[in-house]
Amino acid sequence: MKIIVNGINANLRFSSAHLIPGHDSCGYIHGHSYFVDIEIEGERKGDFNFVVDFKDVKQYVRAICNHLDHKLLIPIYNDLISFKEFDDSEVSIEKLENMKSVAFKVNGKGYTIPSEDCVFLPLKYSSAEELSQFFAEKLVESLEEKYDNLDSVSACVNEGIGQGALFKKIIRE
Ligand SMILES: [Zn+2]
Repeated sequence: MKIIVNGINANLRFSSAHLIPGHDSCGYIHGHSYFVDIEIEGERKGDFNFVVDFKDVKQYVRAICNHLDHKLLIPIYNDLISFKEFDDSEVSIEKLENMKSVAFKVNGKGYTIPSEDCVFLPLKYSSAEELSQFFAEKLVESLEEKYDNLDSVSACVNEGIGQGALFKKIIRE
């Protein structure tokens, strides 16, 4: 059986800034009001014969949304982003978070911004495609601590109404 959580109605939303280095129009810092739809497939199980408790799903996804909300999303593994203080091989989320401010170049253009205004992501892009995989994998990590009956978890990250990317994480065939 599959359960579905609608991100707009369940308030799984966040508003963030990002840019897609090298892209004609999306290469400039801009924002989206994102929302995240979730689909989870698995066996019904336990005292209530649930696939999964909606309350758990919403709590875990909301925590990820809150982490990203009102921040600039920086994908640290992007080939066109270079951080002033670190070589590409030694850059890490922890080091960047510990800086008071971060200086970086995107395709040669320089930015300096307080570190607390940013979320550093272990991704190549902060696109809907990569964010959907990020959400699905993080959600699986949380759910697996409590559930052993799930077959797959899908996250659809929507950049506003009308366009989104869905990543399906298979837990078992
Ligand atoms: Zn965008």
